[in-house]
Amino acid sequence: MDQIPASLLASYNWQQSLIAAVAIIAITMVLRALGTALVPTFRESARINKASYIEKMQRPTYAANQAWNRKWGMFFWVVIFAAIVPFAISTELHSIGRVLRDCVIILLVYDFFYYLVHRFLFHDSGYFKGPLMWVHAVHHRQHNPCRGDSSFIHPIEVAGGLGLYVGTILGLSFVLGAFSVPTVVITWIAFSEINQHNHDLWPTDKFPYKYLNTMSVMHHNHHAHFTGGNFATISLLYDWMFGTLDYGKGYGKVVHARPKREKVEA
Ligand SMILES: [Zn+2]
Ligand SMILES: [Zn+2]
Repeated sequence: MDQIPASLLASYNWQQSLIAAVAIIAITMVLRALGTALVPTFRESARINKASYIEKMQRPTYAANQAWNRKWGMFFWVVIFAAIVPFAISTELHSIGRVLRDCVIILLVYDFFYYLVHRFLFHDSGYFKGPLMWVHAVHHRQHNPCRGDSSFIHPIEVAGGLGLYVGTILGLSFVLGAFSVPTVVITWIAFSEINQHNHDLWPTDKFPYKYLNTMSVMHHNHHAHFTGGNFATISLLYDWMFGTLDYGKGYGKVVHARPKREKVEA
């Protein structure tokens, strides 16, 4: 222990990291229980997504991938909250204004890097073929995903995705200062729930669920074709900015071929 600089040890706040990890799990469970108990639309969504997931789990290769991700996902969680988050989390409690600012910045910066990784490493970007298309092709085997398909991914992508997210938090903590526990908890739950919701089979496009419906439909457009747009995950901001919004027919010059129609005799 003598070799470890005192300044590094002083910034290793493992208690706050542990509190954040427990709070993330507990709040997620409470929100899900309340959501499905009180909101019929959430209950219906949970029902149809569970039914689709159970059907997919009948396939041994699908179940094997999910089992692998569950096991290693837990290992990555331990590494993240034991070895990375403690250096990015503060013992101080910040004002509500600062927590909100930090949450917005973390999610915007993460989504920007995720957009770049997803478009330029995982897909044919329109300029060149991404070097990790073979990794991401596993996730794209699901052409009409359900909620559980957010974790139907190649092992390399599980590590890379979580690494990118926690790397964003660590990197930003050097710029903005260490984040308070609520900031880490709120952004983690938002990151995780938004990513899962994008894969939801969603039952309604009526008010007040139009935004949730749009996010689900847009990510399903992405899954329908390996050449689809909508590369960001938290919002559609960067796809709008960079011209890769995909309403179901591709984006820019990438237009999906329509099924051929029978020629009508004149
Ligand atoms: Zn993709
Ligand atoms: Zn997906």
